[in-house]
Amino acid sequence: SIVITAATGHLGRLVVDELLRKGPADRVVAAVRNPAKAADLAERGVTVRAADYDDPAALKEAFRAGDRVLLISGNEMGKRVAQHTAVVRAAAAAGVAQLAYTGILGGPDAGFALADDHTTTERAILDAGVPYTFLRNGWYSENYTEALGPVLEHGVVLSNTGTGRIASAARADFAAAAAAVLTGDGHVGRAYELSGDVAWSLDEYAAEVGRQVGRPIVHRSLPPAEHRAVLLGAGVPGPVVTAIVGGEEAAARGALAAVSGDLRRLIGRPTTPVADSIAEALRGV
Ligand code: NDP
Repeated sequence: SIVITAATGHLGRLVVDELLRKGPADRVVAAVRNPAKAADLAERGVTVRAADYDDPAALKEAFRAGDRVLLISGNEMGKRVAQHTAVVRAAAAAGVAQLAYTGILGGPDAGFALADDHTTTERAILDAGVPYTFLRNGWYSENYTEALGPVLEHGVVLSNTGTGRIASAARADFAAAAAAVLTGDGHVGRAYELSGDVAWSLDEYAAEVGRQVGRPIVHRSLPPAEHRAVLLGAGVPGPVVTAIVGGEEAAARGALAAVSGDLRRLIGRPTTPVADSIAEALRGV
């Protein structure tokens, strides 16, 4: 079977969609912390198993020998290393044929706080000796396009990226790459640096949003501490603020700008332009 953890999240659902487009539902397993949230997947013929990253006993039952597994990194900062390690142990004990893991562009060289969890997880996977594929994901375009509300309200994209460029791609592109490595051959033992075909600056991003809405939208880059204060003042939760500001400090250094072509090669088509993701988000505003 092909087992997708966190299949009820944004990325997980897109991976399941992609697998259902590619082949029969009875080979797809959604391993999720809340099976009730996966009722719609069960209705589509997907097998649902309980797999809370905090529950080693459940994880033990979540995988079978020969499964191809996608471990989607969790979103509870501070808990991820223990959680991911528990999944790796369970997958190794079951004897899975492949453990694909969604890490961060640059892998061990990414060099920023959020990336450390991914490096530690990759290390745990290597130490466990489980057949692996590393999907080192760059930034989702949706990190920006899902935050257009205040941008449209104030006419300003706030960041601390400076002139740093970001080679983002749509979540659906990263999902298609995951589905490709889980259904194709020759991906075990490989690390893919996944990013969009085009690295853009937030000046360009703001200009594109402005072009699409027909009025000026500007980018203003603040020193990290000031950006942090603005986000906290707007009620954004602390850990999310830390993730945004830390990620943008990395972007400012160019850590999210690499374009390797791995993503477009895996999905067999160009990556989704950020302008398309903006247009999609504007349709929903
Ligand atoms: P989501 O927040 O939509 O999904 C996170 C998923 O993780 C959810 O399905 C959630 O389960 C699941 N999860 C969290 N904790 C546990 C747990 N203890 N046990 C089992 N499952 C758990 O994020 P996305 O789908 O958008 O992104 C996937 C991952 O990619 C994120 O979790 C994060 O690690 C990373 N990420 C990457 C970004 C990038 O730009 N590259 C940006 C943001 C995140 P449930 O459905 O029950 O809530």
